[in-house]
Amino acid sequence: MNYVIDPPAVPSLPVIGEESRFPVHRIYCVGRNYAAHAIEMGHDPDREPPFFFTKPADTIVPSGSTIPYPLATADLHHEIELVVALREGGVNIPAAEALDRIYGYAVGIDLTRRDLQGEAKKLARPWCAGKAFDRSAPCTAIRSAAEIGHPDNGRIWLAVNGELRQEGDLNQLIWKIPEMIEYLSGLFELAPGDLIFTGTPAGVGAVAKGDAITGGVEGVTDIEIRIS
Ligand code: MN
Repeated sequence: MNYVIDPPAVPSLPVIGEESRFPVHRIYCVGRNYAAHAIEMGHDPDREPPFFFTKPADTIVPSGSTIPYPLATADLHHEIELVVALREGGVNIPAAEALDRIYGYAVGIDLTRRDLQGEAKKLARPWCAGKAFDRSAPCTAIRSAAEIGHPDNGRIWLAVNGELRQEGDLNQLIWKIPEMIEYLSGLFELAPGDLIFTGTPAGVGAVAKGDAITGGVEGVTDIEIRIS
């Protein structure tokens, strides 16, 4: 195949214990999926239907990266999240069959330009500028489900310069992973290579140039990035 300009590289993540990489197709993100975070953002923690937004696949940056402070914001926030990586897609996937479609799990940070997101919310505009900006999806290598199973509990945490900011447990997810996949696959045709960021626990906050961000999910892995 010839192209009139050079085609972009396929975004991908390493897989722990494998030489081959995991190609990233799409990135879906779930909003307000821990009650304590819904409350801190001023929302009712009751179980409303889940809602989703997306980030382009090329917003992935590997753990260990130094990320330049993004354009056009003065309020860059961290959101630590468990990330699901799909090996198989489909539409209208029943929750009972959802775990079989999962290749593995990673730990990501849903970086958010909170000021731009807040403005969009106020004006009932889309969240793209707040959520889907360059390098907004730092993510670790993937641990395969064949190795670690399907985590449904375990500590999820994030620290800035060694100070604990976010802490929760996967058992606090309002929409569990199989339910999330069932719901999401009723909206979009899921595909191999899709990632799902599953929401963040309470304690989101701002980071500044020079900050070191560390975090992790018990039983999965740890992430670290730096902001420059
Ligand atoms: Mn998030």
